[in-house]
Amino acid sequence: MTDSNVSSAERLSRLQAQMAHDGVDLVAIAPTANMRYLLGFAPLADERPCALLVSRQATRFVVPMLNADQVEGRTGLKAIRWADAAGPQQALAEALSGLGVAPGGVLAADDTMRADALLILQEAIRPARTLAAGGLMTALRIRKSEAEIEALARAAAQADRAVMVGVEACRPGVTEREVADKIAGYFRQDGAELVDFTIVASGPSGAFPHHETGDRRLQPGDTIIIDIGASLHGYKSDVTRVVHLGEPSDEVRAVYQAVLEANRRGREAARAGARARDVDRAARGSIEQAGYGPHFLHRTGHGLGLEVHEPPWMTSESDTLLEPGMVFSVEPGVYLQGKFGVRIEDIVVVTEGECRCLTGLDHQLMVKA
Ligand code: ZN
Ligand code: ZN
Repeated sequence: MTDSNVSSAERLSRLQAQMAHDGVDLVAIAPTANMRYLLGFAPLADERPCALLVSRQATRFVVPMLNADQVEGRTGLKAIRWADAAGPQQALAEALSGLGVAPGGVLAADDTMRADALLILQEAIRPARTLAAGGLMTALRIRKSEAEIEALARAAAQADRAVMVGVEACRPGVTEREVADKIAGYFRQDGAELVDFTIVASGPSGAFPHHETGDRRLQPGDTIIIDIGASLHGYKSDVTRVVHLGEPSDEVRAVYQAVLEANRRGREAARAGARARDVDRAARGSIEQAGYGPHFLHRTGHGLGLEVHEPPWMTSESDTLLEPGMVFSVEPGVYLQGKFGVRIEDIVVVTEGECRCLTGLDHQLMVKA
């Protein structure tokens, strides 16, 4: 979705200002979230090189012939076309002469551009140095506009409803995959254009933070982690809640309380002027106090926007200053190998005061008979 507050011309000129600041001569953007951010659209990515090339003064768009009309229609930019039989070299040469970029400068390439496309670009451009464009793009993308925050809020509300569809589906005898399918079906029927992931991790599988949802049948006594996300008008959701079948043991209750308290303290620490590490340390410290420190296997959170995982990163060492408009997850977890896992994940927006929580679900353990 194009952010209605900001035109792509404005975003490109902000990129050019950032390039001057960072000493970058040319940026090459592939059909990724970065392209969607800058242009509001990216064609289907495949093995054909497709690059938005931005110098400090000009922009050129090298596009495979089969995507060119669509790209021009969606972005309003003129495509420099190349045909399969000819290859992209001629189109690249034409683009570079229009950009006025001489060999020997600094090229910043989209972080997730294909290596083969990057090698072709480097051959044509002959830069003195190539670096990842992630730093430049993060400077632009890390603080969300109001329109972006509202898009993320709509995606979060949809994911909340999808979690409850999953909770409803959890019953003894049902497989993890069947629960995941119900969730995915809901997302699609509710207008999500892509279901990014539906993790349903039951019993001992819950001890693997990125469990591959499988054919295990739910049984009484299971702790079940539901961690799901989808794309709604280009913006991502990501939420985790925990269901328990039958009366939870004392150990499950103790772990749940520890993670819940860590989640609460993490959200409390998410405020303008704090550092990313303050959020991680608040959550991690709480879990350490409860005696489960070694069982918290990952960072406390990650940014969310056009990608499910993007900066800022909530790690114990990150000195990223939290500013209004930053959006990220707070998702502490405890994983007991061979037994079960608990993770509670919310998406928060940094404001001048207390953070705004986009996830609207209750935080208590959901116990089903
Ligand atoms: Zn998640
Ligand atoms: Zn997450």
